[in-house]
Amino acid sequence: MAALAIPLADGAWRLPTVPGPWLNTFVFSGGDGRRVTLVDTGLPGAPRRVLAGLASIGREPSDVRRIVVTHAHPDHAGGAAALAAATGAPVAVHGDDVSFALAGAGPRFDPSTRGGRIVARLGKATFPPVAVAEELVDDQVLDDGLHVFATAGHTPGHVALLHGPSGVLVVGDALMNVGRMRVSPAALCYDARRCRETVRRLADVDHAVLAFSHGPAVDDGTALAAHVRTVLR
Ligand SMILES: [Zn+2]
Ligand SMILES: [Zn+2]
Repeated sequence: MAALAIPLADGAWRLPTVPGPWLNTFVFSGGDGRRVTLVDTGLPGAPRRVLAGLASIGREPSDVRRIVVTHAHPDHAGGAAALAAATGAPVAVHGDDVSFALAGAGPRFDPSTRGGRIVARLGKATFPPVAVAEELVDDQVLDDGLHVFATAGHTPGHVALLHGPSGVLVVGDALMNVGRMRVSPAALCYDARRCRETVRRLADVDHAVLAFSHGPAVDDGTALAAHVRTVLR
């Protein structure tokens, strides 16, 4: 049976919500014993697997102190309502994605791209509405050691998160690592041009491990800067 929690660094784990590394959630310990923070919640069916992943690292649902959602898309916010109910933890979302989380429907896709227009025609990406308890702002450092980087583009309120104690940088969907590292496909973005700009900013964030929602982590703190220099020039 595949591992339910894969260690990324001391106090940092990747919890796959589907077989393989293609849709991940993350757990970070806050340095005060058993308490942990969950980053992202997978699709609406993911909570059972996420809770099993927590159990595999010796954590009860009540050990979750906060659930951070990187952005209001169904594959990240889909399990948030159920996980909030199971753990009693507050859900934190950046202010610019709060309305989408509350509505249970992601923002429209970039109409300036052909792909975005095609994706838009497939209909709204919906998920169980999320009761947001905390609104995140750029450059905020949470009491669990997570540093918030507002990285608008993929959605208006997309955030990346650096876990200071472990050096793990969760890039959410700003970048994906499916086959190779790449900026979020334009068709899946609210504002494709802005997404590329914010990825350039992320490249300045000191980190040890680059962790993707979609794809395996890269254990190399220079890979993102190199990508920006060579591919995103
Ligand atoms: Zn997304
Ligand atoms: Zn995604």
